[in-house]
Amino acid sequence: MEDKSVFEVFSPVDGIVTDIKDVPDEAFSGGYLGPGIAIAPAGGCIKAPFDGKIKTLHKALHAVVIESGGLEVLIHIGVETVTLNGKGFKAFCKEGDTVKKGQTLIECDLDFIAQNIPSNLVIVLVAEPQDAQLSLTPAQTPLKAGGRLFTVQGDFVPRAEEQAQTGQQVFTAYAVVNIKEGLHARPAAAIAKTANTFDNCLIRISKNGRCGNAKSLVEILGLGVNYMDKIEFSACGDNAQEALSAVVKVAGRAFSESSSQTENTAQELDFSKETDFKGKGLYPGLVIGRIVHLQRATLKIEENSALSPQEETLKLTNALKSVRQILEEEISSCDDKNRVEILKAHLIMLADPFLTEYSSALIKDGKTAAFAWDCAVEESIKILDKSANILLKERKADYRDIRSRVLNEICGFKPKEQHFPENTILITDELLSGEFSRLEGKISGLVMAGGSQTSHIAIMLKNSSLPSLISAGKGVLSIPQDIPAVLDSAKGFLIVNPPDLDKYRRQSEHVKTLRIKAQESAFEPAVTKDGVLIEVKGNIGSLEEAEKSAKSGTDGIGLLRSEFLFSSFRSEPTEEEQFELYSKIAESQNGKSVIIRTFDTGGDKPLPFFPLPKEENPIAGLRGIRTYHLAPDLLRRQVRAIMRVKPYGTAKIMLPMVSFVDELRKYRDIIRQEQAALGIDKVSVGIMVEVPSVAVMANIFAGCADFMSLGTNDLTQYTLAIDRGNGSVSNFADTLNPAVLKLIYMTAEAANAASIPLGVCGAAAGDIYAVPLLIGLGLRSLSVPYGLAAEIKYFIRGLDTAACRDLAFKCLNMESSLQVRSALKNIFSL
Ligand code: PEP
Ligand code: MG
Repeated sequence: MEDKSVFEVFSPVDGIVTDIKDVPDEAFSGGYLGPGIAIAPAGGCIKAPFDGKIKTLHKALHAVVIESGGLEVLIHIGVETVTLNGKGFKAFCKEGDTVKKGQTLIECDLDFIAQNIPSNLVIVLVAEPQDAQLSLTPAQTPLKAGGRLFTVQGDFVPRAEEQAQTGQQVFTAYAVVNIKEGLHARPAAAIAKTANTFDNCLIRISKNGRCGNAKSLVEILGLGVNYMDKIEFSACGDNAQEALSAVVKVAGRAFSESSSQTENTAQELDFSKETDFKGKGLYPGLVIGRIVHLQRATLKIEENSALSPQEETLKLTNALKSVRQILEEEISSCDDKNRVEILKAHLIMLADPFLTEYSSALIKDGKTAAFAWDCAVEESIKILDKSANILLKERKADYRDIRSRVLNEICGFKPKEQHFPENTILITDELLSGEFSRLEGKISGLVMAGGSQTSHIAIMLKNSSLPSLISAGKGVLSIPQDIPAVLDSAKGFLIVNPPDLDKYRRQSEHVKTLRIKAQESAFEPAVTKDGVLIEVKGNIGSLEEAEKSAKSGTDGIGLLRSEFLFSSFRSEPTEEEQFELYSKIAESQNGKSVIIRTFDTGGDKPLPFFPLPKEENPIAGLRGIRTYHLAPDLLRRQVRAIMRVKPYGTAKIMLPMVSFVDELRKYRDIIRQEQAALGIDKVSVGIMVEVPSVAVMANIFAGCADFMSLGTNDLTQYTLAIDRGNGSVSNFADTLNPAVLKLIYMTAEAANAASIPLGVCGAAAGDIYAVPLLIGLGLRSLSVPYGLAAEIKYFIRGLDTAACRDLAFKCLNMESSLQVRSALKNIFSL
């Protein structure tokens, strides 16, 4: 370009020039995308308006940006043409092409466009420079393609890239684009417009490592963001946090508006109406609040160091030392045993030689301590990712945790606290356990897109008093900020934008009153209206939980997951160690019985001191009782420790993952041998009913076991062929599926005929919807997360067993768990 201050733009199409204000879309008519002009086209051939390069071509082929020097011109054909998804368009250029003025770029079928969208005006506007001034051809002028359209005056120097300063605080947030057509002009304009209101603040938008300036419409469009792509916003500089909130908020609103305007958009993500997300509730509660997305402060890390490797090594060593001290202080001041275990695990990870050796090698190569540590942790995460073991995969979050702790120390960075308004329902992809400590007491509810029930953060949440939902799906990341929502973690729902918030307020008041009443009667037995006693026991995994369970009014322990007691042991606990712990647990129950499940290792529950061979499909492989032949003495020591608990008979033995009568007989005989050796007469040996074969043949198993307990989590998994740990399908694993209900009924009939006790210790026992059905199917003992015991008891007191039986029989003949749940909803107005 000769003249740097004036530039001529020629018409890309035959037609009549008209004012951009006539375009029926505020993004254009309001000038948000830049100054320009519209043309009512007389033909469908769109030509290059000057010599230049194709900067972006939208995948729907309706919009192209051409640049020359610092000038960027957007040609946008029609309004809402993005919804045509390329139908009626043909491109003759691609991104990066150098084109000559008058060269054909796109051909479009004007009739087809006119029939399908509100306007086929061709919009030509200047996206860069943003302060360009236009001398326009008068409106209503007929023009040929190639005729003079307007001249642009401005500073055509390509925009200098703003740079984040080293050590500057960078705030990040994620969103998922739920617009079927991807991030097109209107939502992109809304983002750019808002971003431009923040001076001296670098706001970026990135997708899969490609990054653009969020103040530039062209750069946003250039990222080619598609439907359900996860994008990251980052901000640093003046008012970065506010800038990030504003951009995320406007993006969320723009996404929801776009999605509600397009016919094809998935109904469940149309936030202008009530939208529900289902997940796994951890701590139960009902929260009426507003959505806030978690912002993360991260650091810009320099790769190459100006210091010597010795100086960088010292930085890393000092940072590790400080983090170790901080963790030790947190451990000594923490009275939650689960959390202490997690912090201890972080201490072990910190000392992992792989991390230190990997970092040292990079530092020797001239890298900074921060860069080296970051790479070392990333490498560890990659290794875990390749593991087939779900629990190992879940340790990735712990590595992320120690990564940020150490990086903050190296850079001397104190993350700024995010402000949370009252009744915040916080949304995030996955929360780190360190982050949780900082959030406690500041938010009212938490929803995670990912996460799994066996992760460290899930364990912490279950034991906190924060209503929380995990595995809610990545759609939650696109919920607009500040939108009203109801979190019902007891039922596993997040309801966004419900039309009748008052209904939930009344419900919340009702729930509070019920909770008070339930707590007042927690220690009274759960007797139905027609006088039938239902035992409500507690599920536990530690001594601390045993004590809490007893204080919650439970009728003893229905499931002690013994593998949880020793999950951090590097070597097998001795018989004496086990005996002591089991005895303390039994003592805490005031004479009530404790069912101790023998080690249920394998599948999703590895035990460090009992390594198992790597398997292709561990869920259907070596698990529970199927592993005992590999270490028969381990079982012998464990059952001896259980049997020795006094008074004899208080602690009962339960075998997990039984599938065959023969294996039950074999291990029952081994237990009886140990019993005889100890000379103890009262020992109950029961089984978990988790595999469909056991439920189907329950009449035979009932003859070989002293009691049975339905592990509905696994029974559902194996009946419906759904891996309960696989987030993409686990939402379908509903115990109220009539197929599972039939197996429960068969088991109950067999247990009653054989007069042996039968309980339920899977999650269904604590699901208020399932309780009347389980009672109706013949169950008289439920073992639940102890925190729910008082409410379940209270609910049972309002039930009538005959009515439950009628209802259960109707449900057995229904088609789906959805039908069953809606029938229950109608009856119990839950
Ligand atoms: C079950 O499968 O229902 C059960 C209680 O066992 P776990 O959840 O420990 O596998
Ligand atoms: Mg199980």
